[in-house]
Amino acid sequence: MLIGGSVKTVVCPYCGFGCKLLVDPQTLIVKPYRGEPNRGRLCPKGLYAMEFALSKNRVKRPLKRNRNALKPITWGQAIEEISHKLLEIREVYGPDAVAFISSSKISNEENYLLQKIARLFGTNNIDNCARICHEASVHALKTTIGTGTQTNPYEDIENFGAILIWGYNPAETHPVIIHYIKKAKKRGAKIIVVDIRETITMNLADYKFVIKPGTDIVLANAIMNVIIREELYNEEFIKNRTTGFSEVRMAVMKYTPEYAEKVTGVPATLIQKAAREFALAGSGAIMWGMGVTQHVSGVENVLAIINIALLLGYIGNRGGLYPMRGQNNVQGAAYMGALSEFLPGYIPLEDEKFRKRVASLWGVENIPIERGLYLTEVWDAIERDDIKALYIIGENPAVSEANFGRVRKALRKLDLLIVQDLFITKTARYAHYILPASAFCEKDGSYMNSERRIQWSEKVLEPLNDSKPDWKILTMLGKGLGLPGFNYSSVEEITKEYFSLFPELEEKDIEDLKSENGIFLPRKRLHTWEFATPNGKARFIAVEQIPPWESTNGEYPFALTTVRLISHYNTGEMTLRSPSLTKLMGEPKILINAEDAKYLEIEDNDLVEIETRRGKIRMRAKIGKVARGVVAVPFHFKANKITNNALNKAGTPEFKFSAAKIRKP
Ligand code: SF4
Repeated sequence: MLIGGSVKTVVCPYCGFGCKLLVDPQTLIVKPYRGEPNRGRLCPKGLYAMEFALSKNRVKRPLKRNRNALKPITWGQAIEEISHKLLEIREVYGPDAVAFISSSKISNEENYLLQKIARLFGTNNIDNCARICHEASVHALKTTIGTGTQTNPYEDIENFGAILIWGYNPAETHPVIIHYIKKAKKRGAKIIVVDIRETITMNLADYKFVIKPGTDIVLANAIMNVIIREELYNEEFIKNRTTGFSEVRMAVMKYTPEYAEKVTGVPATLIQKAAREFALAGSGAIMWGMGVTQHVSGVENVLAIINIALLLGYIGNRGGLYPMRGQNNVQGAAYMGALSEFLPGYIPLEDEKFRKRVASLWGVENIPIERGLYLTEVWDAIERDDIKALYIIGENPAVSEANFGRVRKALRKLDLLIVQDLFITKTARYAHYILPASAFCEKDGSYMNSERRIQWSEKVLEPLNDSKPDWKILTMLGKGLGLPGFNYSSVEEITKEYFSLFPELEEKDIEDLKSENGIFLPRKRLHTWEFATPNGKARFIAVEQIPPWESTNGEYPFALTTVRLISHYNTGEMTLRSPSLTKLMGEPKILINAEDAKYLEIEDNDLVEIETRRGKIRMRAKIGKVARGVVAVPFHFKANKITNNALNKAGTPEFKFSAAKIRKP
């Protein structure tokens, strides 16, 4: 239902760049916001963002499974039955028999509430999909510089002398940020792009490095090898602001550009030239994405990249680290504590003082200290009978998890599965209860983008039918479970509560958050003079090459990796319900090198079968610019049936490397 009134400002529900949309409540026409961060620009996803919310396929009322059918029930009955069953499971098996999966698409307030429910219920089994994207970045950044996030705002990108873009294709994943990179290039910045295929982003590059999958550390160490041997590093910064340089210097000596050429496929002379140009630029950004993190070596890959920045002092005023976030509130979900090893603000569970502070705010003695399950560990825990009930908001692990066959098997085994979503997703098909959530444009709330800017999103429409904003559903659930303090009557009450946990927000109020530029948490630019480590210094950590979990062989000769497409988003539940976007989408195809295709007698558009040790899928082929021996599959729909679920230290699966074979069926 339209609510009328003046134009509303709404945060885009898709990527983590955080564009704001201006929506006319009368006509629902979307226009781009002129201020920061999108400066009058939107990509097609933002432009057509209202369409999926208006889909006829939305879940309209609470549903309960009765044998094979889903029957409507009232909200009262749904909350009473779900609460009763969760409490019963806790009584019999303990609180750790229940796990909660929060969403990177719901607001800060809603993420804050779900992690509060989990912890008051008695478990740290609370996680979100940051686990399968940038958790490796969080672990590496926390260890080296003491904070787990992007260090600088987008605006800095325009002024740096060089930009190193690694395993990241912003032209398709965060299209609006390309304008910042273009502006930097116009000002003379050198652009180096590293990827496993020739991406659209490479059109901007001075150096295009198409590397073999899984060889990132070799390339990073070779870049450092050149910088150290030619004494191009920032001696003063290293001396005053870091520790561990001598170990890194020793470790990278054997990674000569010539050795790196053999392993990565990038010519040694180009590695030398790019390393020199990056070092001599005087300032630089390093931006990276899933191509870096979704490996068994994900944490070490990020450490190697951070080492380059530390070597040159490219952090703070002279540079920035940009782990670019995927979903619109994945940064907020993590910052609000929807992670199994961190409380809000990435504060470790072991921090007794903060734990007590949180407990006192919530009106209890203490909260659990043991780390909960990672999202990627939940499926084996169900198989072991350790998890009996799962509460999922807005995530679709039946499609988004690596090797999803075992996830679907686990979902079938649960005593109780509750899914809170807009649609009957592939995951919701296994649910005992489905709770209809309101769309992004049917509620108020705050969201944090990749640069840590918290922005307010206004309600444009009344919730569809009997759907409710997630924060209202969670308030009812908290009450149903008998948890203290679940009396919220407005979303702002929850905003105020999370503000009270962050000393940096003590002086701020909701009006600051609703202002044109929002609020940066903890501040706009980090580490300009000190790192958040115990001694205030950043730590170099030497890393050696770690091979992928699987190696290619005669039976599985190809390295299969996954990629994203501009018109699709995650598991397609939103974009496929947008008529304008579906018109723009072509059929997803597997990308294969021309010589490999010729040898296998595969032509453009042929149907091919791709098989890994986990199963097979069929897809049409596209002959394109990818290295020999590599095939790239869009991850959005069925690719994860065959991807590898081996985990890195941060719990992220190796989506980016599976040994595969390919043939015409
Ligand atoms: Fe939305 Fe990202 Fe596109 Fe901006 S770039 S409109 S935030 S999907």
